[in-house]
Amino acid sequence: MTHRKSLSLNWRRIPERYQLLGNECATCGAVFFPPRALCSKCRRKGTLEDKKLGGLGEVFTFTAVRSPPEGFEHQIPYVLAIVKLKEGPFITGMVTDVEPQEVSIGMPVRSVFRRISEDGKHGVINYAFKFVRA
Ligand SMILES: [Zn+2]
Repeated sequence: MTHRKSLSLNWRRIPERYQLLGNECATCGAVFFPPRALCSKCRRKGTLEDKKLGGLGEVFTFTAVRSPPEGFEHQIPYVLAIVKLKEGPFITGMVTDVEPQEVSIGMPVRSVFRRISEDGKHGVINYAFKFVRA
């Protein structure tokens, strides 16, 4: 597989993999991310429908990471947060474009689509959601 080929394959998969696509129970209105097969409240009585989430939320809790996993060394220190989305679900993500000391609980954030790592050997670039100050 050539570098160009693996890169374009990766790009083609982006819409399915990286939209903030959750689902919503039409019976009770509960929203899930990632999507669930069954509503945790209604069980089999619930009807789940796809729901695209807006990506707006606030920092519920966070931590500054100073010992990163391989491939993230150039990004330290970075902030990993649990964000409470406006629609209700919690999502873990990196908060970017801010210094760790600028991040606070309750800070409004929105999701952005950013490069997270690059596998030099295969030329594959991985993308995911991160959060920035809203
Ligand atoms: Zn339900």
